[in-house]
Amino acid sequence: MMPLENNITPDRKASKNLSKYLHKNMDRQAGVDHMSHRTKIVATVGPACDTYDKLLELVKAGVNVFRLNFSHGNHDDKSQIIEHIRNINKTEPYNIAILGDLQGPKLRVGEIENNALPIVPGDVLTFTNEKCIGNLEKIYVSYPNLAGDVKIGNTIMIDDGKLEVKVVNILKNGDVKVEVIIGGILSSKKGINLPDTKISLPALTTKDLEDLQFIIDQQLDWVALSFVRNVKDIVILRSKLDENKSKAKIIAKIEKPEAIANIRDIIIESDAIMIARGDLGVELPVEKVPLIQKDIIRKCLHRAKPVIVATQMMESMIDRVKPNRSETTDVANAVLEGADAVMLSGETASGNHPALVVETMRKIIMEVEKQYRYNREEDLKPQPHSPSFLSDAICYNACKMARDVNAEALIGMTQSGYTAFMLSSYRPKSPLYIFSKERTLINQLSLSWGVRAFYYAEEESVDHIIEDQINILKERGFVNTSDIVINTGSTPVQLHLPTNMIKVTKVD
Ligand code: PGA
Ligand code: MN
Repeated sequence: MMPLENNITPDRKASKNLSKYLHKNMDRQAGVDHMSHRTKIVATVGPACDTYDKLLELVKAGVNVFRLNFSHGNHDDKSQIIEHIRNINKTEPYNIAILGDLQGPKLRVGEIENNALPIVPGDVLTFTNEKCIGNLEKIYVSYPNLAGDVKIGNTIMIDDGKLEVKVVNILKNGDVKVEVIIGGILSSKKGINLPDTKISLPALTTKDLEDLQFIIDQQLDWVALSFVRNVKDIVILRSKLDENKSKAKIIAKIEKPEAIANIRDIIIESDAIMIARGDLGVELPVEKVPLIQKDIIRKCLHRAKPVIVATQMMESMIDRVKPNRSETTDVANAVLEGADAVMLSGETASGNHPALVVETMRKIIMEVEKQYRYNREEDLKPQPHSPSFLSDAICYNACKMARDVNAEALIGMTQSGYTAFMLSSYRPKSPLYIFSKERTLINQLSLSWGVRAFYYAEEESVDHIIEDQINILKERGFVNTSDIVINTGSTPVQLHLPTNMIKVTKVD
């Protein structure tokens, strides 16, 4: 019989090796699982996915950002969801961002008699701002200055454009007479869009202000504003955040023709953009949406602002287990055009297979990224007149160099996020790692294309920081001996200057 010792030793050794292997590869696996797609996934939370287990399942399937839609649900439910997501971040190796989406000046009709009013072309209806149960006589609209803002001939869309009416008369008492152009069944609380009317409602309604306070108190990472019209809307939101010392970053939802007209300034003033194709396709002829999407993505890449393509991406999967071919191509095209993130709404909030949708979307992204146009820095040369020209030039050249030397890692350090957004905007093929001591920023960067962010607070010396950061990546299995790594950073460290150096290292 073999001595006991001999029996145990190899096993022990094997098990030690296995655990080392698993430790290394599980960590890598967790990373690969989550970051194998460089275009990020935003998923809207709703009754179909609002438990801890479901949310975790979605994260494992590929979600990087959860959206809480303040058009639905109450604050108590949202607090619970926020707690679940924060717990996931605490116990699992993720930095999932939470996005609070404000309803903005969304207009609706009131209650409708029997919740169904058949209207036919040629009918003349009366919109009023006095509360009433709607019928063929009068219909309440949640918009006090309707009569002041509309003009005769303006179009009003109802229920995502399924119904359409035209203003035919504006009465002194504030009522507005409209003629039905496209008929159907009008039911309670349906949204209305006024594509050719300048709406005088404030950017933030009373409800938005309450929701915003909740978002600030809960320290959500991103706040999205619906129906942005011009840059002033963003400035107002920014000043509210600043007053409250909130670190939340702003997403402007582009869903109105006015916003398209002011797109350049809105991109400059916002931290990120959402192409909200749902309402955009109602407010504008739907055939205009594809080229607008392309144009906004291109402009956002030029300004290094993350851009989300949203709505109806995998709509048929609300019920079914496979996407339509056109949906698959839509996701693929958004990725190829250079979106930072693609978004799911009803598919995850109230659909039948939330995790399957996310997984399917991730597979499409990963397949397309095999043939992706990486390294776009040649298109996005730093602009000498820009105040950030020098640090832009460092980021630009770091990406170029990473490509030339086939770097296994491109590393950036930032407390404001600027360097991370800049490096990401060049879509480097080398994996991009960002180190920061700003915990909110680490979550926020989950929206940004290709970024994997880590907490790191030491500020001893550049040499020490670079060595440390490479070791962290090595421990996690992201880089190995003889890999080439490019670091960007700022020296002297204590001065917190914009990024001003590049270093090339061969890992030992
Ligand atoms: P919503 O925004 O889902 O809040 O309406 C997105 C869109 O309009 O596409
Ligand atoms: Mn919308």
